[in-house]
Amino acid sequence: MPRSFAALFAVLYLPIEAPAISADETLPIFDAHVHYSEGAWLSYDPRAVIELMDRAGVTRALVSSTPDDGALMLYKQDPRRFVPILRPYRSAADIHGWHQDPVVLAYVENRLQTGIYRGIGEFHLLDESQVGTPQIARLVELAVDGDLVLHVHCDAGPVHALFALNPKLKILWAHAGVFASPAEIGALLDRYATLWTELSLRAPDIDPGADLEPEWRALFLRHPTRFMIGTDTWTTSRWAEYVPLVQQHRAWLAQLPEAVARNIAHRNAERVFGGRK
Ligand SMILES: [Zn+2]
Repeated sequence: MPRSFAALFAVLYLPIEAPAISADETLPIFDAHVHYSEGAWLSYDPRAVIELMDRAGVTRALVSSTPDDGALMLYKQDPRRFVPILRPYRSAADIHGWHQDPVVLAYVENRLQTGIYRGIGEFHLLDESQVGTPQIARLVELAVDGDLVLHVHCDAGPVHALFALNPKLKILWAHAGVFASPAEIGALLDRYATLWTELSLRAPDIDPGADLEPEWRALFLRHPTRFMIGTDTWTTSRWAEYVPLVQQHRAWLAQLPEAVARNIAHRNAERVFGGRK
């Protein structure tokens, strides 16, 4: 088709064919919960991951991986987009005993020396008793001294126990506690000024039908600077769903006042982890 005819075709048909772009579809997203773990490497190379993010409108992402080399692969491919944090799992087996394993702690201390990491995590703590080990005490010390954010998958108990070790700690609470209610989340945010939370896995709770739940809306309006978006690509199949996962979040973001939606979409994460350079 001659170029002039193609242009005419576009002018005639695009306004009819293409849906109007609303503000929510253009909001840049900072995805604060990405894993690029070994199982995904063969199916999605770093360029394929970036292509998915471009399609989803994700301009920046917090990434950790099992093993950590996955996070470094993405960071090397696009250091302006990816913020690496160090996961203390050399393999999936470390998930069970890492909090009391001196070998894992030595691995963490050694890797942190590269100076590229903005945090440690995502790691799992089953309950507050797991916080009472010499290894976690040292991890907290490393985090405060190095201004590193801890990305923690746990319920409210370990959040209290970690802040009891050092109130200067910065915590990104994974999945807003997975099962925590808006009232529980609000109480923790009221109490700890350096607690943030990301909302991976929570879109069905926040917006179960076509409407944002009133309790969640009230929470976002009360703490507009403390929430971030997350997808959690914890297993390879999550990458196939990546664009719809982001779209799920956009559906409820679009129901908030624009300034609050912008904070949650990207500004809160940029304040904590830095913007795109
Ligand atoms: Zn998690």
